Amino acid sequence: MAHDTPIKGKLIDGKAFAADLRAKIAEEVAALKAEYGVTPGLAVVLVGEDPASQVYVRNKGEQTEAAGMYSETRRLPADTTQEALLEVVAKLNADPRIHGVLVQFPVPAHISQMDVVAALSPDKDVDGLTVTNAGRLASGLPALAPCTPTGCMMLIKDAIGDLKGKTAVVIGRSNLMGKPMAQMLLAADCTVTIAHSRSQDLPGVVRQADIVVAAVGRAEMVKADWIKPGAVVIDVGISRFPARDPEAAAAGKTRLVGDVAFDEVREVAGAITPVPGGVGPMTIACLLANTLTAAKRLSGIA
Ligand code: NAP
Repeated sequence: MAHDTPIKGKLIDGKAFAADLRAKIAEEVAALKAEYGVTPGLAVVLVGEDPASQVYVRNKGEQTEAAGMYSETRRLPADTTQEALLEVVAKLNADPRIHGVLVQFPVPAHISQMDVVAALSPDKDVDGLTVTNAGRLASGLPALAPCTPTGCMMLIKDAIGDLKGKTAVVIGRSNLMGKPMAQMLLAADCTVTIAHSRSQDLPGVVRQADIVVAAVGRAEMVKADWIKPGAVVIDVGISRFPARDPEAAAAGKTRLVGDVAFDEVREVAGAITPVPGGVGPMTIACLLANTLTAAKRLSGIA
């Protein structure tokens, strides 16, 4: 039946969902402390002074403490050698107060991201980046899975319910986001396509999807005529632009823009995440959830 009025997609409120999740985690942390005397601990390592990374790291520290966990932030200068960074990681791997270790990426160009990931203990790899955790996720075994796709899955399940048989298109194939996202959708019985910079007829591919996850980093790339009416659209991408207000822009303030042309896509989608306030808050909440899981496993509780 034709619609006289346009469909307006439901706004998926990641901020509220994440706040609920953090509250549940805080309750579990309190119970873990009371019953077993275990306080989950998360260490975040930042090398250099990238402004966006500084904000992420500060937020992680604050939210870790707010959940009742032990938080440690190591800020290292931009000229830290790879050897020195790997030493810090090795110490955190061995520290019994710490159950989760996260090195904030990107690291400066003289440090190999792959070598840093390889140095992480898989048991404390709360970003789910090690070969062990990626392999466990792909094999359907319990894993510490990457936080952002985990958060996306929660939002998608909340929006759709049963994902069985749905067609999903993930745009982006990074180890942190696109690949694990596809594994999770596959595990939920979706028919999954992973698109990337070499994909042909991307709008045509995306138009097949009941679920679209955009994780590219190109502002407003996904347009309304790419979207099947009623599809669930999850916007992971973040591009930073100067704030609209000239005074704020002059003071260095920025605004975030997603991969999806939000206003026009919302007219077609069944449900959609905004940027900011969609996927972003879920990432930190899932990091706390992974830290709690790691703490239980390392303490022999689960
Ligand atoms: P990434 O490693 O740079 O990967 C980007 C992917 O997009 C690549 O697979 C690339 O394809 C693909 N791509 C680039 N241009 C494309 C195009 N024109 N058409 C189709 N695909 C294209 O980035 P990432 O770490 O996955 O992150 C993706 C975005 O999500 C970034 O904006 C990042 O800031 C954001 N992010 C947000 C959160 C959050 O909490 N909200 C968390 C993580 C990431 P190739 O592989 O062919 O190069």
